Amino acid sequence: MNVPLLDLKLQYDLVLTDIKTAIEKVFESHRYILGPQVKEFEKDMQKYCEVNHAIGCASGTDALVLALKALEIQEDDEVITTTFTFFATAGSISRVGAKPVFVDIKPDTFNIDPQKIENAITTKTKAIIVVHLFGQPAEMDKIMEIARKYNLKVIEDNAQGIGAKFDGKFAGTIGDIGTLSFFPSKNLGAMGDAGMCLTNSDKLAARLVQLRVHGENPQYFHKWVGLNSRLDTIQAAVLKVKLPYLNDWSDARRQNAQYYYMNLNDVPQIKLPFIHEKVTSIYNQFTLIAENRDGLLEHLRKNDIGCAVYYPKPLHVQECFSKLGYKKGDMPIAEEISQKVISIPVFSEITTEQQNYVIETIKEFYAQG
Ligand SMILES: *Cc1c(COP(=O)(O)O)cnc(C)c1O
Repeated sequence: MNVPLLDLKLQYDLVLTDIKTAIEKVFESHRYILGPQVKEFEKDMQKYCEVNHAIGCASGTDALVLALKALEIQEDDEVITTTFTFFATAGSISRVGAKPVFVDIKPDTFNIDPQKIENAITTKTKAIIVVHLFGQPAEMDKIMEIARKYNLKVIEDNAQGIGAKFDGKFAGTIGDIGTLSFFPSKNLGAMGDAGMCLTNSDKLAARLVQLRVHGENPQYFHKWVGLNSRLDTIQAAVLKVKLPYLNDWSDARRQNAQYYYMNLNDVPQIKLPFIHEKVTSIYNQFTLIAENRDGLLEHLRKNDIGCAVYYPKPLHVQECFSKLGYKKGDMPIAEEISQKVISIPVFSEITTEQQNYVIETIKEFYAQG
């Protein structure tokens, strides 16, 4: 049996006809840049996330750069973030000329440790970028309390957490600005690159709208140096068709996760994902801590099961950040976790038969000793 880590074809088959019609409409209207579908999708997202403003842009990475610029983060400012995340989180900080300051994670949720944020604050600290890793929101109550105490801005990198909640509130709507990615492997995926910023602030929303068109307002008058980063009209049309399915897809992921919890809890060599009590996760990934991780990875792949290591190397020890002066041993939890994590298939359309095969194959590996 073959079980991919993610099967985009099944989703596509479901929405195919509507997507083709929607794309054709864009072609026929010839309004390729910021066409009406962009505003319509922004409105749908604003309602879905229960937030005042949703501003589309070209990618989740650009959303982070736009957010930092809107918050006027600049050279010599320090921005605190987690060392255990996708590269874009920290790369965007460098891109605006600021300095990423990394902190370690909690060993159970893999999310940033609020206590360690407080220890990393200096007079230069201007903001925190929180990541809601694998679809589980970080501890936003504690993080917002620290931000208020030290007067810091908060960006939520919610690329992996669309629709997830912390204490009943949508992830990405709690800090100053939340960012989303519609990269095809996220829970709501476009057919190419796409991203978005969320905010409850009218002032920040107005800035973000200007920043995505070179900071201009009115046309050809520039108050800021912005980006060329629009949400493509075709991608907006695709996403508008897919959004009504998102809750079902996330529910299915949660059910698939429950099935693993029920059937893998008797394997002492693995630790199943821990979910914080105040959180609703959307399981963008189902990530285990596994004994002999590399052996398990090889065994699953040999048996046609898609799996991946997110992430094999924390950011503080990446070559491009060597000038920041971090060394191995500085973030022991992330360093250890990166050697032990493995993500297994949890996509919405996975069948029980496929899940059983994944479960059996994991058990078989550890039974062999
Ligand atoms: C995917 C992702 C991004 C970047 O999104 P793109 O749309 O690929 O630019 C940023 N942060 C995190 C945590 C991500 O998972």
